[in-house]
Amino acid sequence: MEAVIDIQGLSKSFGSHEVLKDINFSVNKGEVVTIIGSSGSGKSTLLRCVNLLEKPSGGKIIFNGENILDDKHDVHQYRKNLGMVFQQFNLFNNHNVIGNCVVGQVKVLKRSKEDAEKIAMKYLKVVGMDAYVNAKPRQLSGGQKQRVAIARALSMEPDVMLFDEPTSALDPEMVGEVLKVMKELAGTGLTMLIVTHEMEFAREVSDRVVFMDKGVIAEEGTPEQIFNQPAQERTKEFLKRTL
Ligand code: ADP
Ligand code: MG
Repeated sequence: MEAVIDIQGLSKSFGSHEVLKDINFSVNKGEVVTIIGSSGSGKSTLLRCVNLLEKPSGGKIIFNGENILDDKHDVHQYRKNLGMVFQQFNLFNNHNVIGNCVVGQVKVLKRSKEDAEKIAMKYLKVVGMDAYVNAKPRQLSGGQKQRVAIARALSMEPDVMLFDEPTSALDPEMVGEVLKVMKELAGTGLTMLIVTHEMEFAREVSDRVVFMDKGVIAEEGTPEQIFNQPAQERTKEFLKRTL
């Protein structure tokens, strides 16, 4: 299988606090990998290292065969390949819905405004937000904002989509609409790396599940292995607390 991202021996410390220790895993093309684990186990830091919002302290991130932590690699160029969806949406409040999905395409990818709008509309349809093109973020519910944030990331047509607990900031009644969109995306062959607390969702969509505990990958496997036959005591403990 072809690895799009291959993480090798990745570590990250904040001062003397080692938050990630010898992390090894890969995401293959078209695969959906979910990362689960307790709060504080290092999940967000790992995603932030993958897109270089944090500088790893050691290790390699092999992307399409090259270590992007080598000095010669251009961070901005690399980031174009990754779409990121955050817990807190991070929409541009001064732009309307379509503006949010167009601005990065024009500024970063140098697409024409016309092309960018066409592409934005395509992905706003995918997330079911095409009827809201002129709305401002403040006029939207949390679930709608998150769907726009997903469309915005998709509009950049990245190789990999990263999601950091995309439903954690939502009121319970809005979680379903966002997970539904993500399930649909998973079914299209999109490569996705998802941090989530939604265990049923993880079980359903994942090709592989990575369980993190205190900065290490404690266990990794298929949903069947992780949820039905966890090998590690700490995985069992975690699942007992969350399921
Ligand atoms: P998770 O997403 O699994 O809840 P995080 O990656 O957010 O975990 O955090 C893992 C650990 O790293 C926590 O102990 C957190 O306090 C610490 N941490 C995260 N970001 C920073 C930072 N910028 N500076 C110092 N410590 C941090
Ligand atoms: Mg987190």
